[in-house]
Amino acid sequence: MALLSIVLPSYNEEQNIMNTGSVLTELMEKNGIDYELVFVSDGSKDNTYSEICKLQKSNPHVKGAEFSRNFGKEAAIFAGLELATGDAVVVMDCDLQHPPEVVVEMYEKWKTGTEVVEGIKNTRGKENIFHKAFANIFYGIMSSLIKMDMKSSSDFKLLDRKVVNALLEMPEKETFFRALSFWVGFKKDSVYYDVRERQFGSSKWSFTSLVRYAISNVLGFTTLPLKIVSWFGFVFVILSIGLAIQTLVRFCMGTAADGFTTVILLLLMIGGLIMICLGIIGNYIARIYEEVKGRPRYIISKVTDNMPEQVKGAWKKHD
Ligand code: UDP
Ligand code: MG
Repeated sequence: MALLSIVLPSYNEEQNIMNTGSVLTELMEKNGIDYELVFVSDGSKDNTYSEICKLQKSNPHVKGAEFSRNFGKEAAIFAGLELATGDAVVVMDCDLQHPPEVVVEMYEKWKTGTEVVEGIKNTRGKENIFHKAFANIFYGIMSSLIKMDMKSSSDFKLLDRKVVNALLEMPEKETFFRALSFWVGFKKDSVYYDVRERQFGSSKWSFTSLVRYAISNVLGFTTLPLKIVSWFGFVFVILSIGLAIQTLVRFCMGTAADGFTTVILLLLMIGGLIMICLGIIGNYIARIYEEVKGRPRYIISKVTDNMPEQVKGAWKKHD
């Protein structure tokens, strides 16, 4: 029988682990699906990992790992993909904001041959107006870049084993899971869901962390800002030729203005523009630097007893 892995990135979710574990267990058993739950605690500062261990003691279908520090949700997702052994893998939040019943719907679609089942949000749940506007701009840019509609996409999706392997083979460290699963191709379908309210704990995202996430993902998917830099340069050369001719003509006619204001304004403008352009280039260099260092995407400090031997051997186990 096919095995379904459910990957659950968890950061400071001590209040959610037990509940989520039992809800998913009940659902899988009711639908007769062979399953495993892979909890990845992303360097949680609370008792998330000990809750995972407790859950694992009562349910052998549960596996867990703990990071040595907080590496971020992307890293936790990729660790989960690596540790999952299923023929299909679902990634979902462990706060049950992604409705669990949809997992069964995804599973059914996978059974009929779909290789990537995307979870699409009908509504974005409760968000403030800034957040909404920002998300709209960001997903607008991302959608046009990868030529697919990402406005309602989320990290909630099912991937076939083939797709998981393709993702794991990518050497890059700074990933954007949501878009990469579009990028890899394969046979796709979608299921629709409404984002639920979080029952316990609070969201881990602040507005600034979202902006940082967005910038990093745009840089990761496109070199368009670099092209814009060259366009800026081009436009300025044209403008400066025009201005140079006008200045020379006025100089020859003896009507040249006292140039101080113009010079200061031009200097400030060009100076500002050069700094922005350098900043853009600098950001790409920083990314190259990060990738070239070749550091691992995450470091696992502990895994539960029921992990395969080679995984246990790789990390010192102590819980
Ligand atoms: N998460 C994580 N590492 C982080 C931040 C979040 O693994 O650094 C997990 C978190 O535990 C949750 C999921 O990512 O399962 C989504 O996070 P959250 O619910 O805070 O985001 P929101 O639903 O508000 O977008
Ligand atoms: Mg959430």
